[in-house]
Amino acid sequence: MHSGLDLHGLLVEGRSGDSFDRHVLACTIVIGLTEAERPLTEALGLAAGPLQVLVNKLFPHAVGLVPIPSAGGAGEDAFEEPDLRQLLLDHRSRGVEEEEWLAAIVARRSVRPNHLWQDLGLFDRSELNRLLHNHFHALAVQNGKDMKWKKFFYRTLCQRDGILVCKAPNCEVCVDVQLCFGGEEGEPLTALQAALLQKRQS
Ligand code: SF4
Repeated sequence: MHSGLDLHGLLVEGRSGDSFDRHVLACTIVIGLTEAERPLTEALGLAAGPLQVLVNKLFPHAVGLVPIPSAGGAGEDAFEEPDLRQLLLDHRSRGVEEEEWLAAIVARRSVRPNHLWQDLGLFDRSELNRLLHNHFHALAVQNGKDMKWKKFFYRTLCQRDGILVCKAPNCEVCVDVQLCFGGEEGEPLTALQAALLQKRQS
C-alpha cells in the first residue's frame, strides 16, 4: 500500500493526457482515498465504470495502484449536486471526457465542509482557479469579483432559479461581504497535501 505522497508521485509521473489534469485528478484520488468510511467511487462521485476509464486513460502506467471497486455506483447525490454538475457541464470548455469526470468530482466534493480547493485535495486555491478556467471557462469568467467558489456556484444556481439569496442590492453595502469574498486561504487539507506542497516548492 502506497502513502498518498507516493501515490500522487507515481500517478503524475505518467505521460498520458494533460499534465495539469493528471495532477488535479491524482490529487482528487489521493484525498478520496483518505476517507476510510466510503469507497473511492463515492468519495469522487464517479461510478466504478467511469472511474476505471479515467484511470485507464490518465494513469495507464499505474492502473493497479488505484483501488476501484469492481462494480457499483457513485453513491447518493446530495440535494444540490445534480444541479451543480449540470451547471458545470453547461459551461464546459472543450467537450472532453475529463470535463464529465471533473464536473462530477467538483460537485461531489463541493458538499464537503472545507474550501473547495482543499476538499479536492489541491495544493492551493490557484489550482482550482486554473482548473475551472481550463475546463469551465464560460462559467469561471462570470466570477469576475473573485467570490468564494462554493458561494459563487450556489448563488449562480439560485439566481438561475429566481431565488433571492442576497441580503443587499449590491455587495458594497452587504453585511455578508466577508462570507462571500473573504478569501479562501488555508493550508492543504492533510499532512499529505502539505508534504506534497513542500516538495513542489523545494
Ligand atoms: S456580499 Fe451580499 S450582495 Fe454580495 S453576493 Fe454576497 S450576499 Fe449577495
